[in-house]
Amino acid sequence: MHYKLLTPGPLTTTMTVKKAMLTDQCTWDQDYKEITQEIRRRLLELAEVSAKEYTTVLMQGSGSFGVEAVLSSMITSEDHLLICTNGAYGQRMATMCQRHNITHTIYQVPENDVPKAEAVQKLLNDYPSISAIAMVHSETTSGILNELDEIAAIAKVNDLLFIVDAMSSFGGIPLNVSELDIDFLISSSNKCIQGVPGFSFIICKKHELEKRKGHARTLSLDLYDQYQVMEKDGKWRFTSPTHTVLAFLQALKELELEGGIEQRYLRYLTNNHLLRQKMSELGYETFIQKHQGPFITSFLYPKNRPFNFNNFYHHLKHNGFVIYPGKISDHDCFRIGNIGEIYPEDIHRLAEIIEKYSEVAYVS
Ligand SMILES: *Cc1c(COP(=O)(O)O)cnc(C)c1O
Repeated sequence: MHYKLLTPGPLTTTMTVKKAMLTDQCTWDQDYKEITQEIRRRLLELAEVSAKEYTTVLMQGSGSFGVEAVLSSMITSEDHLLICTNGAYGQRMATMCQRHNITHTIYQVPENDVPKAEAVQKLLNDYPSISAIAMVHSETTSGILNELDEIAAIAKVNDLLFIVDAMSSFGGIPLNVSELDIDFLISSSNKCIQGVPGFSFIICKKHELEKRKGHARTLSLDLYDQYQVMEKDGKWRFTSPTHTVLAFLQALKELELEGGIEQRYLRYLTNNHLLRQKMSELGYETFIQKHQGPFITSFLYPKNRPFNFNNFYHHLKHNGFVIYPGKISDHDCFRIGNIGEIYPEDIHRLAEIIEKYSEVAYVS
């Protein structure tokens, strides 16, 4: 059954991105290795960083593999990591730290609020051994968009390593990585760049990456080793997801054709505003009141009438859209993403379907 994905990724891709996967590639072949190198170059341009100061490392697996590659191979046994979290993805970084015995402190913020610079500063005063900060940019759990500027400034002033999980935001919102002085930024192939799943990528400050050689706790996720091999001629250390790589290059070209990140951001923002406006007219409240991001929105189950998510989900799927269940700890929500190959006309159509559904549900 064909449907459009209103999810945070994998998301709806263009036919041309899907078609780019119709060739089989030899991983040793020069043409294929050059594709990898072109992807790495283009990602640096999107991040607004120089190839002198930064490098891109591609890593097999989903986004979490990229996050774990950074934490498990760049945080040394001497380090102390502060994790700012207001959702499941921040929490996942903490779980990774537990697995790898990485010294860490958690700064826990409610799911509908953002980490604050003053609180981070206070934690730094309380724990002078903190040497690194990690945070999520767009917390997909709720759809909230965390502010990076002030915490980035604190990291810089205190000479701390700054790690950002920009999984569900990179490519969909302007982000000046060198201005924010981010040391490691992680994202993946199947989010705002609008490729298909299969690998993550890490924009790394070269100097920090090279300094942390030899600290990896695993072989497969060794970020430095991956970098060293890839840097030579674009060869991935182990088998790479060749079809995904081809699709990703096509997706990068299409992002450029759309007008770059700024234009894509405006499309997402338009989709998101329209979605929230339409849903509000239909009586659905959002969980996030402040700092709502432009990528995905959590809606509370309606209070004034019975609501069955499963029923709602299948109704929408039957009509051509799939949405996501909620992920908020103590509120019943569902989530609707508006990224990927999605336009205002899709949101209008979705709203019409939901409007009819609500009427049906209300009457019965
Ligand atoms: C998607 C996502 C991840 C990675 O999840 P995977 O399922 O491993 O791809 C990490 N952080 C955020 C904020 C995400 O949205």
